[in-house]
Amino acid sequence: MQNVKDMIAHLVSFDTVSSKSNLPLIEDVKSYLADLGINSHLVPNEDGTKTNLYATIGPNVAGGVVLSGHTDVVPVDDQNWSTDPFKVVEKDGRLYGRGTCDMKGFCAIGLALVPEMLKADLKKPIHIALSYDEEVGCLGAPFMIREMAKKLPPIDAVIVGEPTNMQVAEMHKGVHSSTIHISGLEAHSSQTHLGVSATRYAAKIINFINDIHDELLAKPYDDLPLEPNHSTINVGRVNGGIADNIVAKDCMLTFDYRVLPQEDHAVIIDKIDAYIGELEAEMKAKHAACSITQEVVWTPGFAAPKDDPAKSLAMRLAGKNETIAVPYGTEAGQFQNDGGYSTIVCGPGSIDQAHKPDEFIELSQVELGVQFIRDLIKHQASVGK
Ligand SMILES: [Zn+2]
Repeated sequence: MQNVKDMIAHLVSFDTVSSKSNLPLIEDVKSYLADLGINSHLVPNEDGTKTNLYATIGPNVAGGVVLSGHTDVVPVDDQNWSTDPFKVVEKDGRLYGRGTCDMKGFCAIGLALVPEMLKADLKKPIHIALSYDEEVGCLGAPFMIREMAKKLPPIDAVIVGEPTNMQVAEMHKGVHSSTIHISGLEAHSSQTHLGVSATRYAAKIINFINDIHDELLAKPYDDLPLEPNHSTINVGRVNGGIADNIVAKDCMLTFDYRVLPQEDHAVIIDKIDAYIGELEAEMKAKHAACSITQEVVWTPGFAAPKDDPAKSLAMRLAGKNETIAVPYGTEAGQFQNDGGYSTIVCGPGSIDQAHKPDEFIELSQVELGVQFIRDLIKHQASVGK
């Protein structure tokens, strides 16, 4: 257990807040694996400032299980921490530190147990997959997943170790986040007929989105274990205009649409896009240089099919006979969609402690995580015998 605790403290000691590079952490993991005779594959971002890493332990044959984790963490700015967030402190049966629970804890358990994997004479491999930029819209993983799907032999299951208290999570919503920039024409506020108000058009879009929210609210799925059991849409930020007496030239707003995996998110998005198109045409008719533009980040939702191999395997290893749904997004939908992989979400720690000051993981959760991976090692060492 000490080696696992040491590995957690080691990974936490790298400040891998998403805005920073994760290269020092990845280089360290790469050389740790190299010392154990394991070759790492890096899948970097375009400018080479961040990278994914995947590696195979055991024979490079079909039937592998992927342990997936992200290396980035959320910021600590403006949070009131009792201790240094990048220095793990053990207290009252807990390990405190940024990322202990979300989700360097899981990554560390997998890495610390690599020597046990090597000793176990695996018949089928265990792959480790570490991503970047998960916390800012799951931006990094798809590049790695597509390469894995091309280069690795067929995979039996992907386990995304986000904190579920070691319960087996088979569903979460997708997230469509959009930043909208409205560009109008400024004028003196006494001369509204000479301007095109960006805030006026922002208000129209906000009303439109709020009406959609009320429609979604009226469409709950009674049999879903999700709270709330309907899709949601919310305008999170609005920022427009520069003075009381100026018709606003610019306005930006953001919305976040969390969609059930049972629903096609394109239906609502097409509706919003069409409405924005109408508004833009109306603005342009008044002044040709007006525009409404959008930047979109889409992270797909996730639902495991009925008789899913990853689900059965995780339930067996975690000793659970039921599954849960989780309220947050993960890379699971990307492993399913981009890799065609049977995928499940199951990891130590509680999401209640994630993203907060004094983030911690219970040592009892770490122990359950270790047991889970040890049982997976036994499974991969015995399959096909
Ligand atoms: Zn996470």
